[in-house]
Amino acid sequence: METRGIVLKAQRLGEGLRALSLYTELLGRVGVIVKVRRGEFPVKYEPFSITRFKLVQKGDRFEVKEAKLIEENFPANQAELLYRARLVKPLLKMELPGSKKLFGLVESYLKIKEEFELAYPMFLSKLLFIEGLFPEVRRCVSCGRRKVVAFSVKRGGAVCSRCREEGDYKWSRELSRELIRLTKKPFEEVKGDYRRELLTPITRALSGHLRDRVD
Ligand SMILES: [Zn+2]
Repeated sequence: METRGIVLKAQRLGEGLRALSLYTELLGRVGVIVKVRRGEFPVKYEPFSITRFKLVQKGDRFEVKEAKLIEENFPANQAELLYRARLVKPLLKMELPGSKKLFGLVESYLKIKEEFELAYPMFLSKLLFIEGLFPEVRRCVSCGRRKVVAFSVKRGGAVCSRCREEGDYKWSRELSRELIRLTKKPFEEVKGDYRRELLTPITRALSGHLRDRVD
């Protein structure tokens, strides 16, 4: 079995052995064991690297037969490290089948080197959309009214003034519109044309929404 994979997490087991969590294009999320040969440069097994793997099934797990680096995404600074670590974190908790679409999303967002404050909520919104977990934001998730004033993590979307409860986040139709735009448009198109002050409430709602559905 040959597939492209993104290294989400790498653990040293000693004796040149490593346990990797991968998101692969064909198998989805899998854990593999890999033997690092002496003298082998293992950047292909480092977190965020995109690598072509030849995998062999051994019982209920996979072993790496061969691996060839396609692209490393080794962080050049602390900001890149934090951004990439935030991207892969939800992937480590979700049951994810193989998907070209999701693979392409992770691949392209790992490469981003600027505007992380925008890239992160854009990644989350697209991830939720692909996985069928996108919140209802066009109308009140409880009663269907158009005028939404809060975001309820528990109910999975925006709520109106009658349905809002204590602890719900402040929300607006403007935030709903912007969230939908961030979900539909590519990063390159949005990065020169967005309002920074809308990102914090959007990021908070998406993070809470995802955490509630995944943890
Ligand atoms: Zn309502």
